[in-house]
Amino acid sequence: MDKIMVTRSAMPDLKEYVDMIAPLWESRWLTNMGKLHNELEERLKEYLGVPGISLMSNGHMALELSLAAMEFQKGSEVITTPFTFISTTHAIIRSGLKPVFCDIKMSDYTIDEEKIEGLITEKTVAILPVHVYGNLCAVEKIQELADKYHLKVIYDAAHAFGETYQGKGIGSYGDASVFSFHATKVFHTIEGGAVCFHEPSLKEKLYNLKNFGIRSEEIVESVGANAKMNEFVAAMGICNLRHIDEEIEKRQEIVRHYLDFFQNVPGIKVLYDSSSFKRNYAYFPIFIDETIYGRTRDEMYDQLKEADIYSRKYFYPLTSDQDCFRGKYAKIPLDNARYISKRILTLPLHGELGQEEMERILKCWKK
Ligand SMILES: *Cc1c(COP(=O)(O)O)cnc(C)c1O
Repeated sequence: MDKIMVTRSAMPDLKEYVDMIAPLWESRWLTNMGKLHNELEERLKEYLGVPGISLMSNGHMALELSLAAMEFQKGSEVITTPFTFISTTHAIIRSGLKPVFCDIKMSDYTIDEEKIEGLITEKTVAILPVHVYGNLCAVEKIQELADKYHLKVIYDAAHAFGETYQGKGIGSYGDASVFSFHATKVFHTIEGGAVCFHEPSLKEKLYNLKNFGIRSEEIVESVGANAKMNEFVAAMGICNLRHIDEEIEKRQEIVRHYLDFFQNVPGIKVLYDSSSFKRNYAYFPIFIDETIYGRTRDEMYDQLKEADIYSRKYFYPLTSDQDCFRGKYAKIPLDNARYISKRILTLPLHGELGQEEMERILKCWKK
């Protein structure tokens, strides 16, 4: 039997991609803000409904460089969530800033906006929440707090590509929103990412940060990294963007199927609010209450694996509890996050998941 992976990267037809990259054999302009890079940037700006955008080599660099662009003093505090991919936390620490972990809500696993204010100190400079699984953070309340205490808000929107809230692209909330276009994401460029922003001056700052601070042939204006998106990658992006709505529709259909099934399974909780905003159906997490379902998350993970079905314990452990931090944050009260982290399982979801495969996955669960 074939393996069922948790995700499978969407690919355009080979010919479509080859046609897109063929002109590069003439132009030999392979990277450094070429034609395809600029075209993708324009198209994404429109698709995401954002005022400003800067493409990056990956989502992680997009996070690091958006923090760098804010020019925070080293050692400053950033309030964030531990229930995320490790990149979010690493970006803060690698920027010389201090992560202050805030607990999450049982209702949608995003940062608990009611617990943020109690964590604000004189050293706090920013809030870095994550729209985890595409569940949107309480953007209004978070902005209110940011305004009250003069903090920046940087959203890790890696899971929220193409989502809209109140008619606005999700990337237009906060001072910056960061997307990842990694191969495992709903929209991908193999590797890639972007920072979206309002403040027009961020465009030039981010350009410098991703291109060594080079302004002209003889002038290096600032100290920058290298996080440029190359032309081959941009070409993949342009192709995938043509088919993204179709990909999301296919995923929506699969989610509908999952929801029909799991809504009637005692002990399995599925949070899937799609009434208050436009979703992208990037992930399908389920919460397993072992006291009711009779089996633990880890047991179900193993059982699926035996059937060659690969789910993910996203997000376990919490980033704050990872080995690299050696227990440094172990005493922080993150009760909800720890509780959820032990009981959450992300099931396979991608556009090519077929009927037969769905049946194989669902057969592993008792009603
Ligand atoms: C994927 C992801 C990132 C990192 O993006 P890359 O493009 O892989 O560098 C950051 N945060 C979250 C929440 C992610 O899921």
